[in-house]
Amino acid sequence: MHRTKVRIVEDALDANNTIAQANRADFARAGVAVVNFMSAPGAGKTSLLERVVGDLPGVRVGVLEGDVQGSMDADRLAGLHVPVTQLNTDPSFGGECHLDANMVRSALGALPLDEIDLLVIENVGNLVCPAEFRVGEDVRVMVSSVTEGEDKPLKYPLMFRTCDLVLVNKIDLLPHLDFDLEKFLHHIDQVNPRAPRMLLSARTGEGIEQWREWLTGVAAGVREGAPA
Ligand code: MG
Ligand code: ZN
Repeated sequence: MHRTKVRIVEDALDANNTIAQANRADFARAGVAVVNFMSAPGAGKTSLLERVVGDLPGVRVGVLEGDVQGSMDADRLAGLHVPVTQLNTDPSFGGECHLDANMVRSALGALPLDEIDLLVIENVGNLVCPAEFRVGEDVRVMVSSVTEGEDKPLKYPLMFRTCDLVLVNKIDLLPHLDFDLEKFLHHIDQVNPRAPRMLLSARTGEGIEQWREWLTGVAAGVREGAPA
């Protein structure tokens, strides 16, 4: 019984990976580099995008905004004059708490692939299942804010293990928190020692320049994602 259940989950993830590879091939054919951008709800994904997407030198950016419902984040980003496409998992995909390759595939026709060099896919806020589903990305970036606590890499190891960059956000709040930054970085080392990390604050702008440079590098094809 247990073995059957495991088998069904593995088959579902295999099917997802096949579609993700098709997406990635389509993006590559269009010359578009793709970032899968993930975090828990409220970690600051949209704010970190607001800081950079309107001003990446020489790079035309588009955003695919994943949410269960609504378009509040897409509306914020559209004000920056970058093309934003909304992808809601409710009602079309049962209100799923993550994006999968099939959902992204369903949005391909709505994406202006000829007009962009870089697509950032803002995933649904969730530290669990988004980590399991490739969507066709070249690289995975996650945000972990200091308000979430230093134990998160140990509690959600798959998310931290499969990402190519960790953005540590809200560092302007460090003086007000009992957050042990050294311990947190050590926990990242325990699950993903090769992951680069950046300390930044979307609110104050501290550290944003290196985030901008890193994203620009993705568009230039100099960032290599870890193999699936
Ligand atoms: Mg958001
Ligand atoms: Zn989910």
